[in-house]
Amino acid sequence: HVPNIRPVIRQLDDAAINRIAAGEVVERPSSAVKELVENAIDAGARRISIDIADGGKTLIRVQDDGCGIPPEELPLALSRHATSKIDGSDLLNIHSFGFRGEALPSLGAVGRLTIQSRAEGYEAAEISVDGGQIKPPRPCALGQGTIVTLRDLFYATPARLKFMRSDRAESQAISDVIKRLAMAEPSVGFTLRDVSGGGEGRVTFRADAQTGDLFDALRERLATIMGREFTDNALPIDTEREGVRLTGYAALPTYSRGSAVAQYFFVNGRPVRDKLLIGALRGAYADFLSRDRHPAVALFIDCDPHRVDVNVHPAKSEVRFRESGVVRGLVVSALRHALAEAGHRASTTVAS
Ligand code: ADP
Ligand code: MG
Repeated sequence: HVPNIRPVIRQLDDAAINRIAAGEVVERPSSAVKELVENAIDAGARRISIDIADGGKTLIRVQDDGCGIPPEELPLALSRHATSKIDGSDLLNIHSFGFRGEALPSLGAVGRLTIQSRAEGYEAAEISVDGGQIKPPRPCALGQGTIVTLRDLFYATPARLKFMRSDRAESQAISDVIKRLAMAEPSVGFTLRDVSGGGEGRVTFRADAQTGDLFDALRERLATIMGREFTDNALPIDTEREGVRLTGYAALPTYSRGSAVAQYFFVNGRPVRDKLLIGALRGAYADFLSRDRHPAVALFIDCDPHRVDVNVHPAKSEVRFRESGVVRGLVVSALRHALAEAGHRASTTVAS
C-alpha cells in the first residue's frame, strides 16, 4: 500500500467484468451444467443430453432440440445482460429459468466455450469464446437445436481450480442438479453420460420424456428419480389457498429417513432451497415423526410470479415470498391434513 498517491478510477474491460460475475454464477462444474440445462429448457427442448468428462472439469456438453439461435444473434448470446427472456420493464414477471443474460458470457470468461446452433428458417452457425476473446461466428453443420460445449472450466482462474472437489464429487453434484431439473420438467427427456477417456461413454442417468396427465407424468418422473418405493409410500398433495397452489407428493411417516436428503421444493417450477419451506415441513410432520427422522417430499408451490422474488442471488436457488405466512400456513395445514387422514384410514383398516 502506497500512501499519498490517489489511484485513479478506471472502467474495467468486458473480460474482467465477466470474470468477476462468473465468480458468482459459476461456482463449480454443476453450476455450469445448471445454467446450460436451464437454457435448453427455456428454449423449449423436449430432449436434452448432457455429456461430461472428469467431473465436468475438462468437458461439459449440453445438446438440445429447442428453438435454437439465429447466426446474427450468436454474438449477443455471449454479451452481458443480453437476453431474449424479459424486456426489463417488469423484473418480477418471470416465467423462464433465465432472465439475467449472464450465464453464457460468464462461462465464456472462465472456460473455452463453443455454441453451435440452428434456429428454424436459418442456417446453422457456431461461435467460440476462449478466455473472454470472442471469435466471429461461422457456418457449421447441425440439425435444429443447440450444442453448447464448455472445455477446461476455470483454466483461466487457477484459484477456482483449487477449490474443485474430486471428479466423483463433482459428477455427483452434476447428477443432483440434473435430477432436480428433471423433477421440475417431467415432459422433457434427460440423458447424462460420462465420456471421461473418450468414446461413447457411459449413461449415468436417464429419464425418458413423460407424456399424458400432468400428475401421472410427475409421479412417473418422481419414481424414476426418488424410487418407486417413495411414490408407493407417498400421499398426493393438491391444495390451494389465497391463490397459492401446493402440489406434489409427501411420504407417509412410516417411510422416513435418517437424513433430510430427499426433500425437494420447487417454486414456480424452479428448484429452490428455502429455510421457510424446510421449517414448514418440520412443523407439518412434528406430530407424526420423531425429531431425528426426516420425511421424503417433492413439493411444488405455484403462484403469481409477482408474489415471489427469485432475483435474490445470481444462482436463483433462493426465493423470497411476499406473504411468507400464507405459504407456511398452506404447507403446514395441507400436509397435516393429508397425514391425519392417512393415519385415520390406516387405523380404521386395522380395526375392521
Ligand atoms: P439468460 O438465460 O438469462 O437469458 P444466458 O446467458 O444464459 O442468459 O443466455 C443468453 C441468451 O442466449 C438467452 O436469452 C437465449 O436467447 C439464448 N440461448 C442460450 N442458450 C440457448 C439454447 N440452448 N437454445 C436457444 N437459445 C439459447
Ligand atoms: Mg440462462
